[in-house]
Amino acid sequence: MIDETVYVTHGPADLSLAQDLFSTIRNFPFTVHVAMEELESGRSRSELGGRIANADLVVALFTEDGATDAWLNQEVGYAVAKGVPVLPIYESPDDRGGYVADTEGVELQRDDLTVTVFNLVCRLRAALAPLGALSVPNWFLRFPCSLDGCDGTVTIEVERSQKDLWRMHEHNQPVRQDCKTCQSSYFFDAGTFGFLHREDGALPDD
Ligand SMILES: [Zn+2]
Repeated sequence: MIDETVYVTHGPADLSLAQDLFSTIRNFPFTVHVAMEELESGRSRSELGGRIANADLVVALFTEDGATDAWLNQEVGYAVAKGVPVLPIYESPDDRGGYVADTEGVELQRDDLTVTVFNLVCRLRAALAPLGALSVPNWFLRFPCSLDGCDGTVTIEVERSQKDLWRMHEHNQPVRQDCKTCQSSYFFDAGTFGFLHREDGALPDD
């Protein structure tokens, strides 16, 4: 549906961190390739060049442990060579090296991943806007309604600014969208777009 892709490069110790950072972002309709997940399907890391060359953005995780990883640094270099923008995430600005030593990115706050994810969403919205064809909203979530027997599709158009979304998050005010078929309501965290809960509606009698 949407052909934007993001490639996440990281050191071997940071797979679960990468998955944590992108778990709610994967609710959005673009594709996220996480380097070491790709290896699970039997590819070798050297075969991932095509994923990088075709990505709209490469996100590079420069943690204290991972920053010197050879694959991470080679993949950043490869992205730069292919003209793919690189967004660094770093524990300390000094952990960035090489081509991205001066690139502004997202600071990793391990004790507050919500803030990190929110800042990552900010940067992704700037880098990937508009998503897909112009006939669809700039940023949106779309998923099949999960109420038993409902065949509705729910679309959440993300029109608010990131500043407004953060304010909502701080006030525990979720993003809400109703299924137009059964009136079930879906609630998502405004800061991270993580799914919170569903209030069941009912299918119309026929
Ligand atoms: Zn429904």
